[in-house]
Amino acid sequence: MLILVANLGSTSFKYRLFRMDEDGGEVVAKGGYERVDDYAAVIDDALATLQRDGVISSPAEIDAVGFKTVLGKNLSGCVIADQAVIDALEGFAAVAPAHNPPYANGIRQFAKSLPKAELVALFETAFYQWTSQASANYAIPKTWRDIGIRRYGFHGASHKFVAERSAELCGREDVAQIARRLYLDGPQSVSGKPFRVISCHLGGSSSVTGILNGVAIGTSMGFSPQSGLPQNNRVGDLDSGAIPYAMRTLGIPLDEAERQLTKESGLLGLSGVSNDIRDVRQAADSGNKDAQLALDCLVHSIRHWIGAFMIELGGIDALVFTAGIGENNPALRAAVCQGLEGFGICADPAKNAACRATECDIASDDSPAAILVIPANEELVLAREVFRKLS
Ligand code: ADP
Repeated sequence: MLILVANLGSTSFKYRLFRMDEDGGEVVAKGGYERVDDYAAVIDDALATLQRDGVISSPAEIDAVGFKTVLGKNLSGCVIADQAVIDALEGFAAVAPAHNPPYANGIRQFAKSLPKAELVALFETAFYQWTSQASANYAIPKTWRDIGIRRYGFHGASHKFVAERSAELCGREDVAQIARRLYLDGPQSVSGKPFRVISCHLGGSSSVTGILNGVAIGTSMGFSPQSGLPQNNRVGDLDSGAIPYAMRTLGIPLDEAERQLTKESGLLGLSGVSNDIRDVRQAADSGNKDAQLALDCLVHSIRHWIGAFMIELGGIDALVFTAGIGENNPALRAAVCQGLEGFGICADPAKNAACRATECDIASDDSPAAILVIPANEELVLAREVFRKLS
């Protein structure tokens, strides 16, 4: 099955074409465009390029297009990308302004350019469909809940991949099978011991998710991507009382408060140096106290959520690190695991230091819990889900 994974930004379009079968898949072509103002033109150009390069003999050969949609109003899951998906994206365009409008436009455009292909949307919120009401709800009036304000969670594709892969690596094929088929069959019970995972997706945008038997039980991200851990330049969790106080005291309007919280906060806001953790670390190492504070706040927040999910899960079998920071930053992983031996999380300093951007278990030989580094590959995750949905 030929599956095109479309990554649509507010001014960019990137794609990867996968050939998928029961045993997995491979990328057969990839490409992209920056500074896009006409999606129709670049999508048609991409299809023409694939044909000219001999990758396909006709665009009609492409069986499906997959979209990693972020947040839909009253809609989630891995679903056929029809008008209901477009309406759901447009219904929450104001909550995810950088993501929803380009995906709504992209889906419309692909429906025209590839009328025979199946279009599939995998919502980033899909993995959290089965979290408890207690974990999903905020203590707000019913009128607020009725307009869709609740904890949705993001990075669902990445955390679901961790659910599958961690079970495979820990010899829990029963759980891996449940996780792989989750969007087809829903949660299933396991006959043996429960399998408890805490997944740390740490990148430009970060979240921690608790996973029981392949199914998310909760996550650090909430209603919008301005929540949970400190992000690269976006605020994480913030007391709602801080916003009216800052607006009144600093004399700034709502749009400016929103801009500062979404563009000038997170690691950048705390450190005053950069939104990239490599620059923040360098500044901290040269004595910049604000940069050190930024790193400390990130580690504190990651540990806060790990602690929360350890209680909810009743223990832990695997702690997982993924995405840019999780895969490449041994110092941060060491700081997160510091002093957790009493909870069964014992990192091996040498294994941790040696592991960069490859799959490995960095736990010591006698650690009760595995500590896994699992590289993220969100395009492949998407291609797999589309293949599963359609086959
Ligand atoms: P995004 O969430 O935007 O996809 P990434 O997952 O690549 O981004 O994460 C970006 C963060 O990961 C940055 O803070 C960056 O410093 C860090 N990072 C990414 N690649 C590396 C690397 N090779 N070495 C060290 N840090 C990295």
